[in-house]
Amino acid sequence: MLNGTTADQSVERTNLRINAVKTCQPIGAMYAALGIHGCMPHSHGSQGCCSYHRSHLTRHFKEPVIATTSSFTEGASVFGGLANLTQALKNIFSIYNPEIVAVHTTCLSEVIGDDIPTIVKRAREEGAIPEGKLVIHTNTPSFVGSHVTGFANMVTSTLKYLAAEPTGETKDQLNIVPGFVEPADMRETKRIADLMGVKTVMLPDTSGVLDGPLDGTYKMYPKGGTQVADIRTMADSMATIALGHFASNPAADWLEAKQQVPAAHLELPIGVGATDAYVEALRAYAPEGKVPEALETERGRLVDLISDMQQYFHNKRVAVAGDPDHVIAMVKFLIELGAKPVYVITGSPGNHYERRVHELLDPIVPDAKIKQSADYYELHQWMKQAPVDLLIGNTYGKYLARVENTPFVRFGFPILDRVGHRFFPSVGYNGGIRLVELMLNALLDHKDRTCAEEWFELVQ
Ligand code: SF4
Repeated sequence: MLNGTTADQSVERTNLRINAVKTCQPIGAMYAALGIHGCMPHSHGSQGCCSYHRSHLTRHFKEPVIATTSSFTEGASVFGGLANLTQALKNIFSIYNPEIVAVHTTCLSEVIGDDIPTIVKRAREEGAIPEGKLVIHTNTPSFVGSHVTGFANMVTSTLKYLAAEPTGETKDQLNIVPGFVEPADMRETKRIADLMGVKTVMLPDTSGVLDGPLDGTYKMYPKGGTQVADIRTMADSMATIALGHFASNPAADWLEAKQQVPAAHLELPIGVGATDAYVEALRAYAPEGKVPEALETERGRLVDLISDMQQYFHNKRVAVAGDPDHVIAMVKFLIELGAKPVYVITGSPGNHYERRVHELLDPIVPDAKIKQSADYYELHQWMKQAPVDLLIGNTYGKYLARVENTPFVRFGFPILDRVGHRFFPSVGYNGGIRLVELMLNALLDHKDRTCAEEWFELVQ
């Protein structure tokens, strides 16, 4: 499919993205809303947007993703979506009976300029929203940002609606904003906090929602998800740990600015150093201020694996593509492994990304190509100019890997053609072990397939 890509970049391409490494804001908002218990995500726009967002998430998680839509047609496009949203709320509560509806906008309703809070207020006055039920909203115009922005917007808006009234009494608990990560990552992030003896409220929490068991009964609202009652207490927590600058910092910053809950800004806990930083942040709030032996053992296993296998990673040229928080964390891990990230792109915009990756790579790989708002097409051109030993990215990277015969590890969002990612974490020491396994197997499988007979080894 990409056989026609050439290394020639003599014509500057400024207004066209080909295979952008991002998708649109509402997908992130929908994903975040699914991490609230008893929540129905609602897409205020046309059916096509909602269908695309639902199917994209369903294809990634291999789970039915619920969401409703205002079903805009020509009338709503001209006169606005007041009638559609009001009718939708009536239908949603009478048919699907959620505890809470989380409305996000689309390009169309943003261009029209629908005022969601006013529409919801009127709907409540007209009786479209039953007593005791909640409707929250966030704005997710897709002509700016990416799915990561949409995720951050929904988490922040949820807090604005539900954590607006602190009691004034600090609770013995930490808030954790886990980033746009897999249910398995959220589960692992909580498990580490549990091991440290720290009570947490995680928002959002899709573990138990998008990695649920098949038990013969369909549950529209599975057991998982952050309880609304717990979200309300987040304004009273001791502190917030935000994992990921782009997906998590805005929510933590809001809690700090408006509710005086101190924020700790960390990167995704991927690899040894980043997980150490997460554990250290928790330790400040751990009852005994200690790291349990079980966690030290997990760390030791990851360090042992890295030292056993570092010869396979040493100086390997790696290309990384994905969401900014994921890419920053992966670059740090690759440096720990002794590899050389030479091409590092994200489709999402944001100057922090380039600044941070330069900070990490300039002393080690000064000629690395680092780019925000980038696309797979340009990455492919770079790979044509000077190949890499390993490509790490979402499913769309497979086209490049196939054409260039490059070992490929699927990482981030979306992964549409493999399973396992929602069950096995990438974060924490155990997640590091899994990532090393995936990368190493990709490198060694490629070597076994392509090496000369005399290098075809039984033992590695
Ligand atoms: S980019 Fe805009 S119009 Fe397209 S699917 Fe996303 S929200 Fe809908």
